Amino acid sequence: MTFRGDIEKSENLARSGGSGGRIALGGGVGTVVLVGLYLLMGGNPSDLGQLIGGQTDGGQTQQSAGTLDHCKTGADANENTDCRVEFTGLSVNQMWEEQLAQQSGVEYTKPGLTIFSNSIATGCGQASSATGPFYCPSDQTAYFDVSFFDELGKFGGENTPFAQEYIVAHEFGHHVQNLEGTLGLSDYNNPGQDSNAVKIELQADCYGGVWAHYADKGEKAFLEPITDDQVKDAINAARAVGDDNIQKRSGTEINPESFTHGSSEQRQEAFLAGYKSGKMSSCDTLGRGGYK
Ligand SMILES: [Zn+2]
Repeated sequence: MTFRGDIEKSENLARSGGSGGRIALGGGVGTVVLVGLYLLMGGNPSDLGQLIGGQTDGGQTQQSAGTLDHCKTGADANENTDCRVEFTGLSVNQMWEEQLAQQSGVEYTKPGLTIFSNSIATGCGQASSATGPFYCPSDQTAYFDVSFFDELGKFGGENTPFAQEYIVAHEFGHHVQNLEGTLGLSDYNNPGQDSNAVKIELQADCYGGVWAHYADKGEKAFLEPITDDQVKDAINAARAVGDDNIQKRSGTEINPESFTHGSSEQRQEAFLAGYKSGKMSSCDTLGRGGYK
C-alpha cells in the first residue's frame, strides 16, 4: 500500500486507449523523437524505428479513448495498476506545479497521460507494448502499457507499486525536460556513457526522485510515509533498467559506447540524489546551473 486511501481524484487525468488492430497514420513520421524508460533489451537504437514510426498499411483505426471512472480514491490506486498510474500522475503534477516554478522559474503545464494496451497511434508515431513506457514530446503525453511492469522481473527487478510509481515519475520527468527546453538534446542514435541521451535519462531518474521526496509530505500528500522497503523497490527498478544490466541479461557484452540510459549504478544514484535532496540542482546532469 502506498497511497493514502482517503485521497480523492480531483480530475480525470488519464485516458485509456489502444487497440489490437493496426492503425493507419497519415504520411510518414520521419525521425521520431521520443524518450522511454529503457530501450528494447539494450538493443540497437535503430530498432526503435521499426516499432515507432509511420505505418501506412491501411489498417483500421480501432482506438478507444475514455476516462478511468473506476479510479476514484487512493484505495483504488492501491488496488488497481491503472488507477495507480493515474494517481501517481496526479501526485507528480501536484509536486511540479509547486516546485518547477520555485526551483527553475519555468511554469509547469500538465502532460497528457495515456494508458494503452497492444498498440496505439501517438504524436510520435505508432507504438506497441514492446516499446515500454515512454514520453512523446510532440503531443506532450506519457504513454504506459501497464503490462510492461511485469517485464521488470525479467531484468531482476520486481513489479511492486513503488517501482511502478518511480517509472511514472521518470516519464513525467521527461515532460519537465520538455518544458525546460532540454529534452531535444537526447538522441538515442548517438549513444555512449557520456552522451546527452544518458544525461537526459539520468536526470529523469533524478526528477523521479524529486517527486518521491515530496510525495509523502504536506496535508495534500498522496502517499503514506514512504518506507525504506519502498525506496528499495524504486532502486531495484532503476537498477533493473540500467544499460549494463539489460545488456548482461540479454546475453550481449557490456558496451558503454552503446549506453542510452546509464548503468544500474548511475540510475540508482540519480534517483537517490533527487530523493534525498528534493532539489533539481542535484539533477543537473547537463551542467546548466541556475536552479534554486
Ligand atoms: Zn526515460
